[in-house]
Amino acid sequence: MAGVSEIEQMLAEALSAIASASSTQALDEIRIRLLSRKGDITSILKSLKELPIDQRKEIGAAANKARVAVEQALNEARDRLLAAAAISALDPTLPGIRQPCGALHPITLVMDQLCQSFIRMGFGVAKGPDVETDYYNFEALNFPPDHPARDMQDTFYVAGNKLLRTHTTPVQVRVLEAQQPPIKVIMPGKTYRNETVSARSHCIFHQVDGFLVDEGVTMADLKGAIYAFCRDFFGDDVRLKFRTSFFPFTEPSAEVDISCFLCKGKGCPLCKQYGWLEILGCGMIDPNVLRNVGCDPEKYSGYAFGIGVERIAMLKYGITDIRLFYENDVRFIRQFK
Ligand SMILES: [Zn+2]
Repeated sequence: MAGVSEIEQMLAEALSAIASASSTQALDEIRIRLLSRKGDITSILKSLKELPIDQRKEIGAAANKARVAVEQALNEARDRLLAAAAISALDPTLPGIRQPCGALHPITLVMDQLCQSFIRMGFGVAKGPDVETDYYNFEALNFPPDHPARDMQDTFYVAGNKLLRTHTTPVQVRVLEAQQPPIKVIMPGKTYRNETVSARSHCIFHQVDGFLVDEGVTMADLKGAIYAFCRDFFGDDVRLKFRTSFFPFTEPSAEVDISCFLCKGKGCPLCKQYGWLEILGCGMIDPNVLRNVGCDPEKYSGYAFGIGVERIAMLKYGITDIRLFYENDVRFIRQFK
């Protein structure tokens, strides 16, 4: 039976052999000779039980130390040899491997463009939570308790009075609660509605809502802002049409059509021969909404607008099925690089 000094001798010889090994094959031979089931170190460890207890402890410790040191040295030598082989196999004249490069999703692209347009007009950007309370999503925005938009058909309820916001306008309430007018912000984000998914509507979509509150704000300011945005986004020759509409949180309310940028109003498949495209909803903030956040409607007034990002992206790129935005088919997404 080998003593401690023989084990140390065996270890020193093994480490030196490992250090001078020039191939992984040579390393494998050393591993088999020392660490395989019948290897030298393994045999010492196996025969420990035959030794008297005082020797067992001493020799066992030395043999274990040798096993760990040999294993570590073998692994390090192997890595070193493989790395050296990889370097010598490198042919710098070979053409490089092109790395696949990602691109922004069309919704992100259009959302950024919409935001930039308003940021250039001096609007700040505000964000809020996707999971909202009934208060911020509906009540504070003057939705009467029996309003159809509060019906379970349209809203994803999470638990209790929590829900997935159906528009980004709740952020308006949060901003008005936290800041004093004058305020001028846009609120980009995801919105959710419990709708049947089809080519024209989806249960998840994006909005860029915005509002301004100050003293003496009128409908003329709203029209001016919408005109400036549309010229910036769709081109100088765009014409606008304001149609009366209804939203609980604005009074009066309007929907805005622009002259079709494809046919310039003559009529084409994009505008369904109508010559006009509906692009956003807007209006003067209802005095009740201002009152709900402690803002005196006798002193302050404001306007608000909401733009559907998917709708603008579909018009801009001629996309006829909203579901394409969420299927992540790279053949579709790649086209916007
Ligand atoms: Zn047209």
